[in-house]
Amino acid sequence: MSLKDLLDASSDNSLSGQKWHMLRQSIVKHLLSSGNATIAELGSELQSSVPTVTKAVNELLTEGYVVDMGKITNSGGRRPSLYSINPTCAYFLGIEVGRSSMSIGLQNIKNEFVSIELGASFVLENTQESLLELCNLINLFVEDSLVDKKMIVGACINLSGRINTMEGFSYNFFFSENRPLNEIISEQLDLPVRLENDTRAMAFGEYHEGVVDEEQNVIYVNYGWGVAIGIITDGNLYYGKSGYAGEFGHSNIFDNGIICQCGKMGCLETEISGWALVNQFKEAISAGKQSKVVLDDNSKSLQHHAIIMGALQQEDSLCVELVSKQSEKMGRYLSMILNIFNPELLVVGGDFSLLGGYVLLPIQSALKKYSLGLVNRDVKLKKSSLGARAGVIGACCVVKEKMLTALVN
Ligand SMILES: [Zn+2]
Repeated sequence: MSLKDLLDASSDNSLSGQKWHMLRQSIVKHLLSSGNATIAELGSELQSSVPTVTKAVNELLTEGYVVDMGKITNSGGRRPSLYSINPTCAYFLGIEVGRSSMSIGLQNIKNEFVSIELGASFVLENTQESLLELCNLINLFVEDSLVDKKMIVGACINLSGRINTMEGFSYNFFFSENRPLNEIISEQLDLPVRLENDTRAMAFGEYHEGVVDEEQNVIYVNYGWGVAIGIITDGNLYYGKSGYAGEFGHSNIFDNGIICQCGKMGCLETEISGWALVNQFKEAISAGKQSKVVLDDNSKSLQHHAIIMGALQQEDSLCVELVSKQSEKMGRYLSMILNIFNPELLVVGGDFSLLGGYVLLPIQSALKKYSLGLVNRDVKLKKSSLGARAGVIGACCVVKEKMLTALVN
């Protein structure tokens, strides 16, 4: 039986029927957050009698939501059984759509991947064909995973740019005036679909399963082809009114006359981003500087990656010089973010985070130089630990979180 059934409202409208449904939901929710529990622990936590909880747990066992983990070993006398959520009672699908590839993963309810594919070939174009191709790839992945679609609670798709999650619209890719994109994709996949901004999903992934420990106020910087931040305040993702919060890369910073991808002039991205790095590299070569790296004009969105790898693997001096300069500048402007948010943790993710010290050290030193001393003292700087998996993990976490809020409090 799918957990989706338990999330729906009870078909029994009597007061006792509603209460029973809520108790069953509460048991599932408690087991999800605590990992496992005995009947006595559940009774005390949910303020219900042992016979009532026993009856509800037995029902959930029969229906396959809960599993019996065996008797606990550390108590004297009669040893009670330990119950846990059945990992196969629900699955979550996470999809990260990049410019030249897509990554997809299916997690069970215990956040374990049953199937994951990173960097699958897919070219993101703003066309109906490209959208159908994406849906096709997702359907094939689900089929290959051999998980019954009925057991998948929902899917979350990460796209870059402006995403209105509540209304299901994407404004940079696959925009349609008539219908929300999540509805269109949902029809193709036959699954509930949520859209999420890629950086926000990555931030959420790091918060739940990555480098974040106990910190509740976190800024995640997606430093890649473009630049954006994901904001977590008091453990919750911050969206702003319509979901466009975090567009740090499009802050007007420079008086350089360079047109940004967004159409405006002098955005932060025009000097600090993967695409800016490519332009800076080409200018340096034109000006006569030498490099071991040769850019492939057939895969433009991977050119910044080649420069990053040139610094990391070949210690190419031009590549190292360019990424260090950019990172120092990045630190300078991140100091504004520190002063505004006073976070406990700043996580650097995205392609540039592969550079480790080459990017973290200049950022660290610029943060110290440009942010207020007291604010800077509060913050830790870390590199993303999820790397290329951050988006897919984050997308799965977003669907799971949404499901949990549907369960009773
Ligand atoms: Zn811009």
